[in-house]
Amino acid sequence: MEFRGILKQYNAQDLKNKFNAVSAEKIKTIISKDKLESDDLLVLLSPQAEPYLELMAQKANQLTVQYFGKVIQLYTPLYLSNYCINSCAYCGFKAENSSQRKKLSLSEVKKEAEFISATGLKHILILTGDSRQMSPVSYIQQCVEILKDYFSSIAIETYALSQEEYAQLIRAGIDGVTIYQEVYDRAVYAKVHLNGPKKDYDFRLDAAQRALFAGIRTANVGVLLGLNNWREEVFFMAMHAGYLQEKFLSAEIGVSVPRIKPHLGDFADIIPVSDKNLTQIILALRIFLPRAGINLSTRETAKLRDDLLALGITRISAGSTTAVGGHTLNYEQNQDEQFQISDKRDVAQIKQMLQQKQYQPVLKDWLRW
Ligand code: SF4
Repeated sequence: MEFRGILKQYNAQDLKNKFNAVSAEKIKTIISKDKLESDDLLVLLSPQAEPYLELMAQKANQLTVQYFGKVIQLYTPLYLSNYCINSCAYCGFKAENSSQRKKLSLSEVKKEAEFISATGLKHILILTGDSRQMSPVSYIQQCVEILKDYFSSIAIETYALSQEEYAQLIRAGIDGVTIYQEVYDRAVYAKVHLNGPKKDYDFRLDAAQRALFAGIRTANVGVLLGLNNWREEVFFMAMHAGYLQEKFLSAEIGVSVPRIKPHLGDFADIIPVSDKNLTQIILALRIFLPRAGINLSTRETAKLRDDLLALGITRISAGSTTAVGGHTLNYEQNQDEQFQISDKRDVAQIKQMLQQKQYQPVLKDWLRW
C-alpha cells in the first residue's frame, strides 16, 4: 500500500483515544521489545510515557551505540536563493514578506564552497526557496557541478521535484534529498500553506519516494514542531520514514524534528513543544526506528544539542547560517535569515565538544565515483 493509503487509516480522534488508553505496564513491555509495531510507537509518544523517559533513554542510547557507534556526522547548510512564491505562514522567506531577496551567482557559490570546505566539512546541504523562475533545476544543477569539486556528499532541500528532475540532479552529483512535509494533518497543512505550489499536499508527500525511485542514496523527512499536536505529527512522520525504509532497503532514511523559531513575519499560532517533549520525541524515534539517522538542528541551544547527543542523534550541523551567502558575504550584503539559529558554534568548536564527550566527529563518510 502507498503511504497515502496508510495515512488514511488513521484519524486524529482515533490517535487521541489510543494515546489516552496507554497503561504503565504496557510502556515497560514495549521498551523491552526488539521490534516495534505502529501502535507501540503511539505508546512511546503518549503522555503516560513521560515518567519513563529515563528507561527509554537507556534503551535509546544502547540502540544508538549498537547501530551507529559513537560517531556524529557533521554538515552545514548553504542557502543558494531565498526567492519564494509560496506563502507558508511560519516562514521568513514567504512571498509577501519584505525580506531582501538574493540568489547566489555561480562565482559566489564557488566562494562559499571554498570557505566551507576549508573548515574540513565534506558534506553539504544546499537550499533554495520555491521559485522555479529564480532557482530552476538547471541553476541547482550548475551549483552542484561547482560544489562537487569541494564536497563528497551534496544533499538538496528545495521545492518538490518530479522523479526525472531528481534523476537529473543525481546525475549531476547529489546523493541526498531532504524534504519535510512540515505537517501531516491535511487540514492544518491547508491552513498554513496559503498560496503557491506547496499547497499541493500529495505532491510534497510523495517527493521523498520519487527521489528514492530516481536512485537517491539518502532521504530525510521531517515535521515542523509547533504547527499541530506533536504526538500525532511525530507518529505520522515516523510511519512515513518506516514505510520508506521498508520499501527502499538499500537507502538511508533520516528524520528531523525542528521546532518553529522566531522569523520575519507575524505567525503566532504556535503550539509549544517543550525541551522535555523534544527529548521524548527523540527517544521514541530512536526506539521505533533504530536504523534511521536523526538530525538535530542549530535551532536548538548548544546545551540541549549536547545533552541529546547520546539519546539517538546521528547528524548535526555546524557553522550554520540561514542567510543566502551567509558564510562569506559581508554584513552589508548579508540578507535576512529564514529563522534564527541558537547554536552558533563553528565547526572547530563542535568537533572539540564531540571529542570531549568521546564521540568521533565524521566529516566525510561517502565518496562519489
Ligand atoms: S518554507 Fe520554503 S516554500 Fe515555504 S515560504 Fe519558506 S522558503 Fe518558501
